[in-house]
Amino acid sequence: FLPHLVAAMEGVEETYIMIKPDGVQRGLVGEIISRFEKKGFLLKGLKLFQCPKELAEEHYKDLKDKSFYPKLIDYITSGPVVCMAWEGVGVVASSRKLIGATNPLQAEPGTIRGDLAVQTGRNVVHGSDSPENGHREIDLWFKEGELCHWVPAQAPWLRE
Ligand code: GDP
Ligand code: MG
Repeated sequence: FLPHLVAAMEGVEETYIMIKPDGVQRGLVGEIISRFEKKGFLLKGLKLFQCPKELAEEHYKDLKDKSFYPKLIDYITSGPVVCMAWEGVGVVASSRKLIGATNPLQAEPGTIRGDLAVQTGRNVVHGSDSPENGHREIDLWFKEGELCHWVPAQAPWLRE
């Protein structure tokens, strides 16, 4: 399997996916994780976490001038979130497609937000918007030692 594994490293990205407090409160954790798992991406990190205000502010610092920013920080810190690091070729853009448009009413059926949410302020899940932000956000939300680097048994059945 070694040549296969080396080939699989080319173009590999990581993305930070987070089930927001509404997704946790509504019992959607299994459903949402399942969509990424079934797609064939590699789970590298997973935890239930009560986000401190400072971390929410750092994560969403690019939005701090938006009118909804205070509400967004309240929302993200209002209960536990599920933090995940996922790896794969093209995982950043593909995850954004699985998640769907920011406004759940505009998100396509079949996407997480399209199927499971109705309002932008309660859109159940976050996904990094670029490979750079994928690295940045995983560094921000996970500590050294919280990530696993492993090869799943199904690897040769996902990539030729
Ligand atoms: P995303 O990348 O699709 O999550 O969207 P953005 O990066 O533009 O915004 C980050 C998050 O801020 C969204 O997922 C929403 O939770 C929230 N948000 C964005 N726009 C609005 C808005 O107009 N109203 C409210 N209440 N929340 C918003
Ligand atoms: Mg965003």
